[in-house]
Amino acid sequence: MSATTIIEGLEQRFEADQLHVRGSEEFDTLNGAKDVSVFLTVINPFVLNDETSFAVRGAGQQLLAGCANIQGGITLDLRLLTGIDLDLGTGIVSIAAGERWGAVYERLAEHGLGVTGSRSAKGGIAGLALSGGLSFFSSREGFVCHNVETHVMISLFFAAQFGQTMGLNQLYYTREVENPPVLDPFAKVQPQMEQLNSMRMINLKDAAAEQAAMSSEGIRCSYMNTTVKSDAATLKAVAEAFASTLDLVKGFEGVAFSLTLQPYPVSLLEKCVSAVGNVTGLTPDEGPLVSVLVLMYWKTPQDDGHIIAAATDLIQKTKTEAAARGQAVPYTYMNYAFGFQDPIGSYGDENKALLQSVSKRYDPEGIFQKGCPGGFKLFV
Ligand SMILES: Cc1cc2nc3c(=O)[nH]c(=O)nc-3n(C[C@H](O)[C@H](O)[C@H](O)COP(=O)(O)OP(=O)(O)OC[C@H]3O[C@@H](n4cnc5c(N)ncnc54)[C@H](O)[C@@H]3O)c2cc1C
Repeated sequence: MSATTIIEGLEQRFEADQLHVRGSEEFDTLNGAKDVSVFLTVINPFVLNDETSFAVRGAGQQLLAGCANIQGGITLDLRLLTGIDLDLGTGIVSIAAGERWGAVYERLAEHGLGVTGSRSAKGGIAGLALSGGLSFFSSREGFVCHNVETHVMISLFFAAQFGQTMGLNQLYYTREVENPPVLDPFAKVQPQMEQLNSMRMINLKDAAAEQAAMSSEGIRCSYMNTTVKSDAATLKAVAEAFASTLDLVKGFEGVAFSLTLQPYPVSLLEKCVSAVGNVTGLTPDEGPLVSVLVLMYWKTPQDDGHIIAAATDLIQKTKTEAAARGQAVPYTYMNYAFGFQDPIGSYGDENKALLQSVSKRYDPEGIFQKGCPGGFKLFV
């Protein structure tokens, strides 16, 4: 079955002014959630007959091949599904799936408000919330997903409402206090490089815009991660392994290879269990934890193998160093996971089984499992 036949099928079900194919003037116009539901219903038999596959794109910030895009299939691009509604009475903000966090922060800033969302203004709403989501406020408020009041969920049968070598330290204190004493051990560390010191008061909107400006676009980028207990000896060993890895990637065109340590304090882990449920497998009694992220940018496709292999080896060494000290944690953070990693498996068998049962309930034929090959799958 060719893409043309499928588009013809879609044309029969949509009004002429509702379906716009690439190349048409209307292609860039907005569709709504109901149309997404109709799209899925129409595409259902084609997917079940292995005649097509599709991808869902939020803001497209997830970098895995085939994740928010697909070769030879249909990309359901939600980027024009926009809209931000703020209810000042309840303090709840309703955000359409195609928005980016930067637009949300701008809207909330008009009222002196903020929300637990991405640290980057360019981050998408659903990709972040569906995978957890690390925010400037995570130490206090947990992952982004712990702050979601209601998802508008679309199933195939109904739509229902449900409840250079250089080190960079970034510290955020999320209350309006200038020079809080609690930051002194970091802020007063000696020696200081004043020209690199950017300690100041900044609002959420500007902080997220600053993070977005630091990201590189148009060049190759990848990341992978693991989690360890907050153990100084393990982290020192990881830093040494990182320093040796730098020698392996030096000299490749456009390379920026970084190690990011992001703390999961007990206050964050508590949110994992106190919310509606906890599928991550993370518990406060094993905390505090540290997420070890290897993020890399480079220029040339021919260097993919070398750069990815170096990062894979570094993640493996991190796991080995942590395991040797009894400091390993199985959790892999989905938003920073590479294709070979298994974030869902890292939540534990019971949690994976729970997620599988939810999938079977709302997507009994497994359209999202079979027809949408990108991302991490529940049934592998
Ligand atoms: C520069 C940079 C900064 C980042 N900063 C952060 C950060 O601060 N915190 C953090 O936690 N992560 C961060 N990330 C990771 C990033 O947030 C994730 O890659 C996230 O998944 C991107 O969200 P998105 O909406 O753009 O998703 P996309 O890239 O569009 O999609 C990601 C996955 O989610 C699925 N998806 C998206 N929308 C929907 C939907 N409506 N329904 C069903 N499935 C959907 C897609 O099919 C895909 O599998 C960063 C990444 C980069 C490159």
